[in-house]
Amino acid sequence: MARVKNVYCAFCRSSRRIYTSRGVGAVHLVGGLIWSVIFTMGYFREMDFRGVFVFLVTLGVSEIFLRLRWRMQIVCPHCGFDPVLYLKNPEQAAAHVRVFLERRQASPDFLLAPRLNLPAYTPAEGENNTMDHLLLRGP
Ligand SMILES: [Zn+2]
Repeated sequence: MARVKNVYCAFCRSSRRIYTSRGVGAVHLVGGLIWSVIFTMGYFREMDFRGVFVFLVTLGVSEIFLRLRWRMQIVCPHCGFDPVLYLKNPEQAAAHVRVFLERRQASPDFLLAPRLNLPAYTPAEGENNTMDHLLLRGP
């Protein structure tokens, strides 16, 4: 049973649903065990010690896909904000958001999309009014 949670983007405050499991849990262990037994019985025609390796490979593949799914869905589909990247490198995360918003502005896919609730910003005197304000400046 996949656990799904409703979360809000830290940048645009848009709501979305994400899977909370980052890795293999009890359900995946049981599923991997059942799959390994079925595969071992089908392939070797009896219970075989090599079924343990099938089980381990199944768990490894499951872990990889669960982590990839979590990592891909954590990026906001509305503004492109990546909280994991932001923790490692805020400037690079800001650059990704800027590129995403520029593409969003030019793309017809987002014409009917709801308007983003981006942080308010008023350019100072003499400052050009580009999307540079989306660069999250560190301390
Ligand atoms: Zn967002």
